[in-house]
Amino acid sequence: MKVNENILISSLTTMRLGGPARYVLEVEQPSEIPDAYGFAKQYHLPTFVMGYGANTLGHDEGFKGAIIINRMRGITESTTDDGSTMIKIMGGEYWDNVVAYACERGLTGIEAMSKIPGLAGAAPVQNIGAYGQDISDTFVEAEAYDSVTDSFVTLSKADLQFSYRKSILNTTAKNRYFIISITIALKQGTMPRPFYNSIEKYITEHSLTDFNPQSIRSIVTQLRANKLPDPLEIASAGSFFHNVYLTEEAAEAAADKGYPVHHGKDGYKINSGWLIEQCGFKGKLLHGIRVSDKAALVLINESATSYNDLAKARSEITGKVYDKFGYWLEQEPVEIQ
Ligand SMILES: Cc1cc2nc3c(=O)[nH]c(=O)nc-3n(C[C@H](O)[C@H](O)[C@H](O)COP(=O)(O)OP(=O)(O)OC[C@H]3O[C@@H](n4cnc5c(N)ncnc54)[C@H](O)[C@@H]3O)c2cc1C
Repeated sequence: MKVNENILISSLTTMRLGGPARYVLEVEQPSEIPDAYGFAKQYHLPTFVMGYGANTLGHDEGFKGAIIINRMRGITESTTDDGSTMIKIMGGEYWDNVVAYACERGLTGIEAMSKIPGLAGAAPVQNIGAYGQDISDTFVEAEAYDSVTDSFVTLSKADLQFSYRKSILNTTAKNRYFIISITIALKQGTMPRPFYNSIEKYITEHSLTDFNPQSIRSIVTQLRANKLPDPLEIASAGSFFHNVYLTEEAAEAAADKGYPVHHGKDGYKINSGWLIEQCGFKGKLLHGIRVSDKAALVLINESATSYNDLAKARSEITGKVYDKFGYWLEQEPVEIQ
């Protein structure tokens, strides 16, 4: 285990905010995980498991505890009797390397989730998803360390209780498990048609006819490059708010008011980016935080110097959206505290 002291959280997160973390413990093999938790216990420190920091925000006062990071890498595969390919990925592997690996082998199931920044261990936490695919669609199980019982466990798909951007890992069992590896089941083939709206639109505009995991990956890569900031160049946490999910009754009422309500596999929703745009925030700079002019759901840290700046920008946005529409926007990134 590598022990680092007083590391700025701003250097560990893509939003690039946050003061020093007392300890950052980097775990390179499963046997070191109990040591990391033991170390924190010995000094009475709270713990926070982090990956790439693409969905995490640090506070100005930092974290008087131990951040534990999974540095275990590697991908292994096996075939099952029904022809599925089981891929076991160590949690420290960069997620997009996993998608590239699968697409090169002609495997379908995660190609629409190309270019989502982050590590594989974080993928089940908020049930990552994009362009019509979620990790829960192919997820089989995770190997994890349970910090409450101090034991190694296997968590099945049913155990994790996935829903839109949620699992037990960011709700009822937040901060409890350290994900060591995940296993997903993929198949040879192509995603079923119709593809997600924006993929279909791209196909029509570019008169494309050849579809396989690799070509869908190229389309998604292009779509994302046009819309989303590259975390290596621009500081952001991606979509800052969840979309607004509605009951059927509320969806009917919203549609009557002329709001664009979408009905998908997760239920009725309004794109929060649309709500923010309608409030006139798209492209605006608020306390050093830029509301992206390409996707209003994305907040960019252009010149904010503190978490406090971000908090002020967030409060202006959520307040105005609530006053205008009566919906309270829920933040997507997790806070280390
Ligand atoms: C530009 C941009 C675009 C994005 N686009 C998308 C998108 O299209 N779809 C989408 O779903 N998300 C998207 N995100 C959000 C982010 O990419 C995902 O949430 C990703 O899974 C975060 O991975 P990470 O390793 O950075 O996690 P972190 O931010 O480090 O951690 C996120 C959460 O997971 C927990 N965690 C991390 N690793 C482990 C582990 N090994 N064991 C247990 N818990 C762990 C942390 O405690 C925290 O609660 C985007 C972010 C950015 C910056």
